[in-house]
Amino acid sequence: MIPANRTDFEVIVVGAGFSGICAAIRLRQAGIHDFVVLDKADDVGGIWRDNTYPDVGVDIPIWGYCFSFEPNPDWRYAYAKGHELQTYAAHCVEKYGVREHLRLGIEVTGMRFDDERDQWNLQTGRGRLRARFVINAYGAFGRPKMPDITGLNSFAGTVIHSARWDNTTPLMGRVGVIGTGSSAVQIIPEVAERAERLTVFQRTPIWVIPKPDFRIPRLLRMAFRLLPGLLSVPRWIVLVWLEVLYNGVFRFKLPFTVTALEWAAGRSLRAQVPDPALRERLSPRYRFGCKFLTLSNRYYKTFARDNVRLISENIESATATGVTTADGQHHEIDTLIMATGFEVFERTSLPRYPITGTVGVDLGDYLHDNRNVCYEGVTLPPCPNAFIIHGPYSMTGSFFMTIENAVAHAVRCIIEAQRRGATRVAVKAEPYARFAEEMIARQAASIFYNSNCEAARSFYFDQHGDVPLFRPSTSIEAWWRMRRFPLADYAFSTCAAAEQQTGQRETS
Ligand code: NAP
Repeated sequence: MIPANRTDFEVIVVGAGFSGICAAIRLRQAGIHDFVVLDKADDVGGIWRDNTYPDVGVDIPIWGYCFSFEPNPDWRYAYAKGHELQTYAAHCVEKYGVREHLRLGIEVTGMRFDDERDQWNLQTGRGRLRARFVINAYGAFGRPKMPDITGLNSFAGTVIHSARWDNTTPLMGRVGVIGTGSSAVQIIPEVAERAERLTVFQRTPIWVIPKPDFRIPRLLRMAFRLLPGLLSVPRWIVLVWLEVLYNGVFRFKLPFTVTALEWAAGRSLRAQVPDPALRERLSPRYRFGCKFLTLSNRYYKTFARDNVRLISENIESATATGVTTADGQHHEIDTLIMATGFEVFERTSLPRYPITGTVGVDLGDYLHDNRNVCYEGVTLPPCPNAFIIHGPYSMTGSFFMTIENAVAHAVRCIIEAQRRGATRVAVKAEPYARFAEEMIARQAASIFYNSNCEAARSFYFDQHGDVPLFRPSTSIEAWWRMRRFPLADYAFSTCAAAEQQTGQRETS
């Protein structure tokens, strides 16, 4: 057990979502126990802790959305609900002994590398902490984006963001939802059933395909519990499906998959919305894949309800009583739900907090002035001993495989540094540049540059016009490279003051 008053660690993991939990599990399995996992919230679970809006759930069949080493026989739905993911996170924390490493309710507000001692100094809401290595596992969708609407401060009703849901939010009266992304597609049908009137403000329509969801029969769950090996069957089916989808659609390797999914979405729209004018307004003008894969069996038909209005005029301003659109119409609203997404590549969110690397380089400026790239999606030359789990060019078809890959990379670097007695490990400039060039060149063949994605207003594009959210490679290639990257791509070094520091920590 690590004493509560300790401030100096071998490793600090920032974030107790699935990435942080995975890092903690792998560190322990690698024999590293001198670490803590910090999270600003009072519980684990990351996005599944924060996103509790009605009907929140995964958009990927659940057997492909869990750790490879911890299959779960108890999922109740093929597309599990948010609370099931939250229960799964807590289960992993207990089963793998992560609990004793948790330091919850501590927000990291910045970190600075000490070149003299080869260590990171972290500023937190509860004082300063130090660590030789830092694993930034804060996730990609942690900072909600509020829309910049003139007069919003004067709105007298309730305003709530989808990622900061409050179950006491009044949903019975006149409710407005701004946004029609993946979160909104889940929220809108639920709110429509409760609200007296629902007004949906759509800026860009979204492709929505049917969701082949079903309750997993109790007998099948029992079979999974008795014969855990059986779980690998649905898991591999889903992983292969994700791989086809990811490479076929995003990487544009199989353009017919894009056409097939557009056909499925169009068919669902025609079946659920009889009014051709309304259908027209719900139809995207960009290709499927320019935005996140979105599934629902209820979204389109919600717009055929008498108490639901679709507003596709741009929002001009907000007043005390509602929202005014560009056509001069004023829409009376009591509760305004912002399903407006997250700051992903904004200067304020990448990195999540100020990170000052070696020789005082500000990481935010570095990424902004160059391109948003991490070597293999994980490391940067000015940030020795630091790893980012959802770094640019890390994400492949499976979210959990992405996490496990990045954690494997980070742990390999730490173990190798310890084996060599090194106090500093930093990716070299040349392999970093080579990786950046390779990813950007490969991305040029993706759907993002070979269809009309500019009409999608997709948050996938960063300020450079790049799409660093996705790694243009198969999951297998990423899996292999994250575990077999040449160690010569890193510089390992030792400084005497740092070694002394380690010695002091070991004897304390
Ligand atoms: P999002 O995809 O970024 O969608 C935000 C929506 O808000 C868009 O429709 C956007 O319109 C609209 N919007 C933003 N500012 C606006 C403004 N000023 N006026 C009018 N409309 C505005 O965000 P999200 O739906 O929260 O999803 C974000 C990501 O979270 C997804 O890509 C996905 O990775 C993840 N997610 C996953 C799941 C799941 O697996 N179950 C569920 C939800 C979310 P424009 O399109 O015109 O910009």
